[in-house]
Amino acid sequence: MAKISINLKDGTAKKEETLIVGIDLGTTNSLVAFMKEGSPTAIKGQDNKHTLVPSIIHFLPNGEKLVGNEAKEKLRTDPANTIYSVKRLMGKSYNDLSTVSEYLGYEIIDDDTESLVKIRVKDKFYTPVELSANILSSLKTRVEKELNQTVSKAVITVPAYFNDAQRQATRDAGKLAGLDVLRIVNEPTAASLAYGIGLSEEESKLIAVYDLGGGTFDISILQIHDGIFEVLSTNGDTFLGGDDVDRLLIDYWLKINARDAQDYIKDKKKGQELRLLAEKAKKALSTDLLFKEQYDGMNCQIAREVFDKLIEPLVARTLDSCKTALKDAGKTVADIQHVVMVGGSTRIPHIKTSVSAFFKQPLFDSLNPDEVVALGAAIQADILAGNQKGMLLLDITPLSLGIETVGGLMDAIIPRNSKVPSRAARQYTTSVDGQVNLKVAVYQGERDQIADNRKLGEFVLKGIPPMPAGLPKIEIIFAIDADGILRVTAKELRSGVEQEIEIRSQYGISEEDMAKMLMDSITNAEADLKIRSLLEARNEANNVVLATQKFLEQNDHILSDEEKNKTLQLSVTLKETINGEDKDLINKAMADLNEYTTPIAHRAMDVHVADAMKGTNLNKGE
Ligand code: ADP
Ligand code: MG
Repeated sequence: MAKISINLKDGTAKKEETLIVGIDLGTTNSLVAFMKEGSPTAIKGQDNKHTLVPSIIHFLPNGEKLVGNEAKEKLRTDPANTIYSVKRLMGKSYNDLSTVSEYLGYEIIDDDTESLVKIRVKDKFYTPVELSANILSSLKTRVEKELNQTVSKAVITVPAYFNDAQRQATRDAGKLAGLDVLRIVNEPTAASLAYGIGLSEEESKLIAVYDLGGGTFDISILQIHDGIFEVLSTNGDTFLGGDDVDRLLIDYWLKINARDAQDYIKDKKKGQELRLLAEKAKKALSTDLLFKEQYDGMNCQIAREVFDKLIEPLVARTLDSCKTALKDAGKTVADIQHVVMVGGSTRIPHIKTSVSAFFKQPLFDSLNPDEVVALGAAIQADILAGNQKGMLLLDITPLSLGIETVGGLMDAIIPRNSKVPSRAARQYTTSVDGQVNLKVAVYQGERDQIADNRKLGEFVLKGIPPMPAGLPKIEIIFAIDADGILRVTAKELRSGVEQEIEIRSQYGISEEDMAKMLMDSITNAEADLKIRSLLEARNEANNVVLATQKFLEQNDHILSDEEKNKTLQLSVTLKETINGEDKDLINKAMADLNEYTTPIAHRAMDVHVADAMKGTNLNKGE
């Protein structure tokens, strides 16, 4: 699939790599597919058996990593060093996660802030981006071995409801894995492409995509028009999937055998073995009418009929979501022209019958439901590579556009390969008390530090009313019109103060320079990420040091001398690490300080609340 291009200036010929692969980076399983002789094909691993790679990473004692099936085995023996469900953490801050962290078997660092989560494995701290990059690297290696060539371009899918930060995190993960991510595509869009829905230009359709995976359920209502897939509504449950089916089966077996669930919770190995048996039974029942095996002296038997009754409440919940999604889209079942089934759990016959009955029509379910998203991504990739005649490529931005933020970091507001025209906005605030001006510097490029990118212009938003740091709400809007002209607007939302610039020379950059900037961003991704995490850790640590200082001043009368000294000492240690170059040390010192001060802070809060209550009592004259 290689093209040869000839450079007319110097007559050299070079082989162009036009292969772009499609990747489904899933919560439970991931896989990679590519266009093989005109049809999308999922790639198997060395065993030539499995196309699915469990989205699991295990850290060996020597620091090396295992990904996929090998890592899955370690869930049983070494759960603290085995990371799964990373996708749930992508682009999330600690505050978003209060419910999830209990459910995960590994340690997420929680310091009650708005900054992005980190995962602790021994004394190292990893971001969800780094961990996802490990999965992507392993997929990259898989496809390179199969094709015996390097692969550096990919389309990666994400759930339709992923926000800007989650999409950006997915892009970053790709870059870190040495992949140029040409497009982030919605999973339901990819699934319908796999069935050829929406491939022809003039097609106009309303479709529903029902996706029941390992741990999540998503329903999306899509409007397809002129080759554009518009998400009208999404609904679902981020804690409903095949794992719940397995749990229902386990509970059933424990009950009919009069066993105590605690035995299988305490004994992790046995618990895991029972879980695997339940999954095996569930899969068998997708084709057989009866499953029967012995385990640990238990009769593990179940008939399809009983199984169907067991999962009925779960099915009903998914259909409730479908109702809501239809309502939100302003549509009814009669409007839906196609229903596409996605996710391994939709292999269950009772689910198929129920969904088909709900939508009153036959289903699109002939492809492997756990591969269909990757297959569609491969088709999208092929279109991008220009291999599908008749498919028009919409105009896209060649490089990311963004602004400079604290520490000289680039914050991309419109990612590269976004459709033109395009509009994106993000909110910022001030970092200094009483700040009245804010400089907005606009950059183009893929690197993490603005120094490595290309500056397009800058302006100053003046006349922000003096307020404490963090209070002003400054919205920065990037809008590119159909002619590629970029307009950047900054507006302080509380006061309405506004400023704007227009940048015309957006594309005033040669193809070679662009290619170089892209290549640089990929080859330097690891170093860039290192610097970014260091700068971010330093910023966060500086804030923590300041907050600690304020806390000590305000609560002087509540804290014991020992508490004051210890807090101060931990804060000094943190300050020292900020000057160093090791982000893990900074994160560790921050975690230590937080761990020590959290209970004290709670106590101080109680005292303040009690004081305030006393106040009200006095006012009431009681
Ligand atoms: P995700 O999108 O969450 O990464 P998948 O689409 O790969 O996940 O779905 C994984 C789920 O599908 C698991 O819970 C698995 O047990 C389930 N599954 C796979 N095959 C079958 C089958 N034949 N019958 C029922 N469930 C299945
Ligand atoms: Mg999936």
